[in-house]
Amino acid sequence: MLTDPEIRRPAVRHLVVFGRPGSGKSSVADRLAVQAAYRIVRTGELLRAAVRRGDPLGRRVEGILARGELVPDPLIFEVLEDAQFRPEEERLLFDGFPRTVGQIPDFDRLEDRFGFQVGLYVEIAVGERAAMERMTGRRVCPRCGKTYHVANKPPRVADRCDDDGGELIRRADDTAEVVANRQRVYAELTQPVVDHYQATYPRRFVAIDGGQSFDAVCRDLERAVGL
Ligand code: AMP
Repeated sequence: MLTDPEIRRPAVRHLVVFGRPGSGKSSVADRLAVQAAYRIVRTGELLRAAVRRGDPLGRRVEGILARGELVPDPLIFEVLEDAQFRPEEERLLFDGFPRTVGQIPDFDRLEDRFGFQVGLYVEIAVGERAAMERMTGRRVCPRCGKTYHVANKPPRVADRCDDDGGELIRRADDTAEVVANRQRVYAELTQPVVDHYQATYPRRFVAIDGGQSFDAVCRDLERAVGL
């Protein structure tokens, strides 16, 4: 994959993208992944896939996801342990992990075990209100997990996934009450993680204004990774 001449090579090999629910982080991550052949590691999607399969892990986390709460840290590590990372051959983009202060040492363990180091921590920064408004327009493909937005990132054909034609749905955790809960959870549990990386690695941290247009956010992210 990395030898394709069409793929542009960013200076940053591995990165973590943070952003509150509704910040648009997953959409910009998708775009960057296509441009620069990052492999996206998305814990939320790994968990939703387990729920869809109805396996033991899926049954344990289904209610937690539906309420907009966070899955216990050990289960997240379990999910990630199964992912075979090959950081020499692939660029990794983490979306949705680490999400609690307790997961920071888990992330360090992952870096040690697979032998890589994150070169950039990115925060897509938006206010809570703007994020909540955006979330109501969000749609997702249940087959591949690709995300869309009715206004900001519509599919080519209404309600159909561009990649596999799957019928787009609204996520079960995008209702008003759950959305509000997820914002609270982010402020309480994930913002301290962002603050930790900003304070610990100021030169490897960048905040991007997520209130701009989708294209402008993508351009800032491309610049940040050195494309
Ligand atoms: P996301 O798609 O990243 O918004 O994640 C959807 C849901 O999956 C979250 O609301 C959490 O319930 C759960 N989740 C995803 N990643 C994590 C994580 N790193 N730690 C705990 N829960 C997570």
